[in-house]
Amino acid sequence: MLRQVAEGVLIHQSEFLQTNAVVVQGRAGVLVIDPGVRGDEMACLANDLSDSGQTVMAGFSTHPHWDHLLWHASLGVAPRYGTARCAATVRDRLSDAGAKARIAEQFIPPDIVEQVPLDLLGLITGLSAETEQIPWDGPEVRIIEHQAHAPGHAALLIQERGVLIAGDTLSDVLIPLLDFGDTADPIEDYLAALQLIEGAADEVDVVVPGHGSVGGADQIHARIDQDRAYVHALVEGQAVSDPRVGPSATYDWMPGVHERQLENLARRRERDGTPG
Ligand SMILES: [Zn+2]
Repeated sequence: MLRQVAEGVLIHQSEFLQTNAVVVQGRAGVLVIDPGVRGDEMACLANDLSDSGQTVMAGFSTHPHWDHLLWHASLGVAPRYGTARCAATVRDRLSDAGAKARIAEQFIPPDIVEQVPLDLLGLITGLSAETEQIPWDGPEVRIIEHQAHAPGHAALLIQERGVLIAGDTLSDVLIPLLDFGDTADPIEDYLAALQLIEGAADEVDVVVPGHGSVGGADQIHARIDQDRAYVHALVEGQAVSDPRVGPSATYDWMPGVHERQLENLARRRERDGTPG
């Protein structure tokens, strides 16, 4: 079920929202990033890995949203990591007994909720803010932490393989989804994140978004520019000419998400008394 996108880097794409799980081959086993959504898909991934004699040595969640925090028992008991801010957010959101039921009810689409195993949701260890790379025995995976989309969101750069794992930025199917709940300035945070990512992107041949299709070298800057143009258009209240919300959009609910972001932004301006 795995497809190689660069030397020693493989992905599996879920049918749910084109969610990409990433497997990185190391010396004695693999690193699994955002392992997937449905239980049977994660079990299948675990199966394929064990059939080819590969042990999961570590896991990583790019950000504290349910579809990036899942795990399956058959993937084993390797340490799972996220940024410190990601882990703290998860701890906070899962702190009460009803949290998982609430997530299932509010966030997971009803048609797949029965297939999403929540028992190992969010069991991640936070890596301190000074941690520059994922601690594991394999190619160096640099953590590019920023605050776009969710607290403690991480893009990951595997420089020696020329791969950028973008989490929920740089998608060809999802517009930038701003984090209106957790941050003082979601717009500036998003633009700052894109700038950080752009600073690392020159060495990249392959971009793997959390959802959507894998892009080649020609796509990196195009996707950064497209995300940036979307955010600017949102701020300026201009008509958005973005294929991800246009008539040919992959998801017909994306224009609705765009409308809600406009409303959120307007409410925030009213609250803060900012002109425009
Ligand atoms: Zn997300």
